[in-house]
Amino acid sequence: MCIFCDIIDGKIPSKKIYEDENVLAILDISQVTKGHTLVMPKKHCRNIIEADAETVSQCTEAVRRLTKQIVENTGAAGANVLNNCGETAGQTVDHLHFHIIPRYTENDSITIAFNPSEEQDLDAVLALVRG
Ligand code: 5GP
Ligand code: ZN
Repeated sequence: MCIFCDIIDGKIPSKKIYEDENVLAILDISQVTKGHTLVMPKKHCRNIIEADAETVSQCTEAVRRLTKQIVENTGAAGANVLNNCGETAGQTVDHLHFHIIPRYTENDSITIAFNPSEEQDLDAVLALVRG
């Protein structure tokens, strides 16, 4: 059972912002800020790693257009666009989705901190990441 598939199938009501053959965008039930939106593919896939390229492209194009629309229409000063991939990264619904979170002030009720951590050997990290 997937709660987002149930929303896509109309079994659970949602506030639709945008819909086409492949993509659905709805208001997040818990509005971190006014206009907080979720963009998801209609085809079920767990996350961005497991999704095929076409599905991700369809979503990211919708994210691009909707971020512009939402920021313009809400009068927000900007937006955070994010995807949580995996439980450790905060993913709670295992159906690929992108958050668009309009930002009004630096004091909005969202915290995204790039905290300093232990120093890394960047060459070693590069080799690791490149594989
Ligand atoms: P995640 O933590 O997986 O990145 O985000 C899941 C999001 O889905 C959360 O922000 C949560 O508020 C939202 N959500 C969970 N259940 C529902 C629902 O039934 N309807 C809507 N519109 N959003 C939901
Ligand atoms: Zn699903």
